[in-house]
Amino acid sequence: MTQNAVGVDFAQRLTDNPTTAERRAAILEDPGFGNYFTDHTAVIDWTIDAEGRGGWHQARIEPYGPIAMDPAAAVLHYGQEIFEGLKAYRHADGSVWTFRPEANAHRFNRSAKRLALPELPPELFVESLRQLVSVDREWVPNGEGEALYLRPFMIATEAFLGVRPAREVSYRVIASPAGNYFGGALKPVSIWLSEHYARAGHGGTGEAKCGGNYAASLAAQLEAEAHGCKQVLFLDPYNDNAVEELGGMNIFFVFTDGRVVTPALNGNILHGVTRDSVLQLASDRGLSVEERKITIDEWRASVADGTLAEVFACGTAAVITPIGELKTAEGSLVSPEPGPESVAMSIREQLLGIQTGAVEDFHGWLTRL
Ligand code: PMP
Repeated sequence: MTQNAVGVDFAQRLTDNPTTAERRAAILEDPGFGNYFTDHTAVIDWTIDAEGRGGWHQARIEPYGPIAMDPAAAVLHYGQEIFEGLKAYRHADGSVWTFRPEANAHRFNRSAKRLALPELPPELFVESLRQLVSVDREWVPNGEGEALYLRPFMIATEAFLGVRPAREVSYRVIASPAGNYFGGALKPVSIWLSEHYARAGHGGTGEAKCGGNYAASLAAQLEAEAHGCKQVLFLDPYNDNAVEELGGMNIFFVFTDGRVVTPALNGNILHGVTRDSVLQLASDRGLSVEERKITIDEWRASVADGTLAEVFACGTAAVITPIGELKTAEGSLVSPEPGPESVAMSIREQLLGIQTGAVEDFHGWLTRL
């Protein structure tokens, strides 16, 4: 058992067969994104008793491996599932830090509410990350732009085919060494405008981080790939084709008069931690930031009249990535490649600097793991 700040014991059962230092070094040489997993996983179970009281118990670290689950487990049928994504960064002195984990814990609980799953105390969320990283610390890469991607998730494990919230749930964290999300050097990406598929609808689960949203985005993703694009832009067809977000990133626009605009959080859009950080860093610089509705027609018009300076996407995995081109069935909207002085590239630099310990963290965004 290892005692910790939240007073919960994490029993430790470590693997007899950890990855060798040679194999780990070979993986860390070129981890890509989401390909390899560390030796352990953090687990906490939740059950509900006869009086209807739910509780978290049996916090533990286990060897990484397949999950034994009843074929009738609710998650396999009704998709009662949520997840998070954040990174652990190695600083020059070897210490390991994560970025705004309480924001992810808060979003996890918002998602939990929407999917009728139990909330997890935020301190326990952060402690589970700390416990996992403490046993798999060697897996945190130290190359430029590299980090250990942490994937907390919660699944309904109860074996029951009626449609109601499950009474047995499992929370887990897995970790995966990560390099550049899009592969290779940073260059502007092309994205595809989805005109047949929507990602979210009003009253739906758009702002929850649940598996179903991503399953529903895959057909559009295939369409994007068929057009040579790596990501999809989703619109709200019931709201004047307002721009919402990409399949896995939020979107920003910078106008030539210096205004920084991103779609307002309207229930359909994920509350991105990077989005929130970009808004803060942009206003720190005295830029005027606007969270509001921006339609595809406004995007087209601002390209046509030359008032749109930059478009970029942001998220934990890819940090800030300039969007060079929006491909649509009717033609492309092209944005110029941003220079180092651009809002996209300079905020990217600052954000990466904070995360990796090279730039002062004056907002207190880092937590040591
Ligand atoms: N939108 C979607 C749909 C996402 O999956 C993500 C990644 N979590 C984001 C936006 C960006 O969120 P964050 O900055 O918290 O990674």
